[in-house]
Amino acid sequence: NKAVIKAEQAFRLYRKIDAEKKACFLEQIAEEIIKSNDLIQRCSEETGLPEARLMGERARTISQLKLFASLVREGSWVNASIDTAISDRTPLPKPDLRQMQIALGPVGIFGASNFPFAFSVAGGDTASALAAGCTVVVKGHPAHPGTSELTASAILKAAHATGMPDGVFSLVQGAGTEVGMAIVTHPLIKAIGFTGSFRGGKALYDAAAQRREPIPVYAEMGSINPVFILPEALKTRGGEIAFNLTESITLGAGQFCTNPGLVVVEETSEGYLLFQEKTNEKLSNTTASAMLTPGIKQAYDNGTQNFLKIEGVSELARGRGGDIMNSGIPQILTTTAAIYLDHKELSEEVFGPSSLFVKAKDKDEITKLAENLDGHLTATIHGTEDDLKVYADLIHILERKVGRIIINGFPTGVEVCPSMIHGGPYPATTDSRTTSVGTLAIYRFTRPVCYQGFSDVMLPSELKNSNPLSIFRLVNGKLSQDQI
Ligand code: NAP
Repeated sequence: NKAVIKAEQAFRLYRKIDAEKKACFLEQIAEEIIKSNDLIQRCSEETGLPEARLMGERARTISQLKLFASLVREGSWVNASIDTAISDRTPLPKPDLRQMQIALGPVGIFGASNFPFAFSVAGGDTASALAAGCTVVVKGHPAHPGTSELTASAILKAAHATGMPDGVFSLVQGAGTEVGMAIVTHPLIKAIGFTGSFRGGKALYDAAAQRREPIPVYAEMGSINPVFILPEALKTRGGEIAFNLTESITLGAGQFCTNPGLVVVEETSEGYLLFQEKTNEKLSNTTASAMLTPGIKQAYDNGTQNFLKIEGVSELARGRGGDIMNSGIPQILTTTAAIYLDHKELSEEVFGPSSLFVKAKDKDEITKLAENLDGHLTATIHGTEDDLKVYADLIHILERKVGRIIINGFPTGVEVCPSMIHGGPYPATTDSRTTSVGTLAIYRFTRPVCYQGFSDVMLPSELKNSNPLSIFRLVNGKLSQDQI
């Protein structure tokens, strides 16, 4: 309650702070994170993630903060739109109307377990919310409390150094649902950003919808990221695809939201047996690595075991066991499209280094399978030019199912840039119109306001006639940087 009240008081000042100062604040957070000596070691100890991976993730976190700093500094993201008055229009005069995006208010962010930097305390959700002009209260993930505390102190140092109002950012910790629920149901909180399980995300979404004033919850939840390997690609590049796909499945102990959990192949394709053999060869030489928490490891083991209890599901390949705590053994299971379509539970996410290879008889069965997919973050197609012509319909089906379609690549490795969409239809997320990665993420924390009949002096700088910020604006339907 104290953190949220401070966030509301700070919001009244922070929302009006100019873009240059906000950009400096974001850049200073990046600086303080780099300066934080113990961060990498502490994080590795808490999560079991190797230092090299964490260095890479820290670099990504810093580039996210800098990306939002440059977005805010450039300024056109507010989508300013100006329709000037036509006083002699008949039968009625047209008023002067001007519109732009403004910040929603204090927002609650839930740090993710699987990205202790890039999707946690100073991750993309926090960066985009602060860039939008919102103040932030983060609920730290209980899997990395020390990392959260160190990151929060970097943000607070940056806030102090750049003269941000007290309360612009707070971290609250505590395992158990009470802390998170208190944030979601607090009347002063205006939106939520979340990455984690379907159960957690849906519970928070429902709680937010039942508030006296319902608020948006941008929850990024489970996704199995289907991969379709088309017949000619399987025949000509099956071995290479098997190698790279197995790497993508086992990367980071499979604890990525874009992990390929479902692979669809045509069993009758000439290259199928070689593909299967190469997958087995690669996976049996892959050693298990530590998973993030005992709970996540347990959920992984339960998930793969539950799949194997279904008649017609079997193990295709198995990796080497590790002698470290919480290690998740890589596993590839297989079944037929008919069994997959008959068992809805096979489309549930098993978070970890496993995948289900589904063998289809023909194109019709592949198409049926695609049509029956739920919403996911990504879908991948491996195909030659001819394959892609024959399967042109598949892309049209997948456009309605996912946020990002990848051709001849792999879904893991999410670029942070304006064109990225890391989102997708429910149940992958609670709002398919947004993304949690890339500059578009800022609009989760803003809303448009229209100013009618305002004199120039009363208007925000973004909408003044002289365009003092030199931003791009839609003026009477034409995009321009000009004065009016
Ligand atoms: P989680 O259980 O959903 O927890 C994420 C955060 O939400 C934690 O801070 C948790 O707090 C909070 N939370 C969860 N349920 C809540 C509720 N009902 N009310 C209030 N707060 C709640 O996710 P996780 O611990 O990271 O991992 C568990 C499973 O989530 C994994 O096995 C995996 O299946 C999935 N996961 C998916 C992704 C993805 O990107 N698709 C990423 C990470 C995890 P407390 O723990 O303190 O209660």
